[in-house]
Amino acid sequence: MSAPGMKYTDEFRDPVKAKGLLAALERAVAETGATAEKPLHIMEICGGHTHAIFRYGLDKLTPPGIEFIHGPGCPVCVLPMSRVDDCLDIAERPEVIFATFGDAMRVPGTRGSLMQAKAKGADIRMVYSPLDALELARRFPEREVVFFGLGFETTMPSSALTLQQAAREEIANFSVFCNHILVPPPIKALLDDPDMRLDGFVGPGHVSMVIGTTPYDFIAEDYGRPVVVAGFEPLDLLQAVLMVVRQIAEGRSEVENQYARIVPRDGNPVALAAIEDVFEPRPAFDWRGLGEIDSSGVRIRDRYAAWDAETKYGVGYGAGKSSGHEAELAEGCLSGEVVKGKIKPWACPKFAGECTPETPLGALMVSSEGACAAYHLYAGARASAAETEREKAAS
Ligand code: SF4
Repeated sequence: MSAPGMKYTDEFRDPVKAKGLLAALERAVAETGATAEKPLHIMEICGGHTHAIFRYGLDKLTPPGIEFIHGPGCPVCVLPMSRVDDCLDIAERPEVIFATFGDAMRVPGTRGSLMQAKAKGADIRMVYSPLDALELARRFPEREVVFFGLGFETTMPSSALTLQQAAREEIANFSVFCNHILVPPPIKALLDDPDMRLDGFVGPGHVSMVIGTTPYDFIAEDYGRPVVVAGFEPLDLLQAVLMVVRQIAEGRSEVENQYARIVPRDGNPVALAAIEDVFEPRPAFDWRGLGEIDSSGVRIRDRYAAWDAETKYGVGYGAGKSSGHEAELAEGCLSGEVVKGKIKPWACPKFAGECTPETPLGALMVSSEGACAAYHLYAGARASAAETEREKAAS
């Protein structure tokens, strides 16, 4: 938010300001003619926004003429099972120390998760950054250290800078298993899906710190949908939704930046230069629940091939394999429908029964940014109430 003097977190949670924004939102929604029966479908792309919406109860505070559709912006959630299997193939080698962020540990592949492989003896270690993994390579020169590079444009720069550092120091026992993916291509795929109805987007804050706002121009220009890049506090999100709805009410479709205190229009040039030096687009990448999407991932450029685990160990695309969509989802898991925003998590028959954060069937229940985990954590009571109502209606 750009209000003068707003500096501290509390100010972005001020209930008086929230009431003002909600009143303005109610007026703007009324101007569009949207109702509870015919709501505006607004997709928050980022999983962090999904959690903030539920954490602060914004889905209940906003007028009934708005329906939030939860987008595919959680990299752990959209990682296909075959790539988890590839991780296991690498991690189970006796010479390998496999270094990963903690939230990838419990994501299920077709033959288990990294957590389960660790319990069986694989040397899998949780790290907070790729530089921690590089330090492991320095400390254990007799071992091979593989970093699980995962995430959107937000985490790409740290992987790129670490690879550059490994190359500078000629650390030969370090490599990266690259699973970095891009935000704009799946949004285009969703907009091209004839079953989807999306009226506007709340754009991701962290990704946009790196790439800026111009990569979203096609959404406004080619598809006529408004986009507002937003921060993560409740007033950030309320203001961003208000900006989206005002555009719809006024018949505009533009890319606006609610998070201008953090997000520059042209992104971060240092981060973008590192990405450009190290990575190049893949022709296509598989997404759990969405299938293969053109140009939606990156691979390591040939000049850094010595540090590319995919070619070093002959796994995944490096071995000419594609994931095979039949292996993408656990049986009964509807995360493909949830990721596309076609159903809410509690419409999945496994939700909160067979599938919980402790016993996840799908990645959406694993990650701290997954929509199913958000519903379970913050909206579980509402789900139980909805279930009771459904049972009452059926009896
Ligand atoms: S609740 Fe579990 S099984 Fe159902 S869609 Fe979500 S992750 Fe899949």
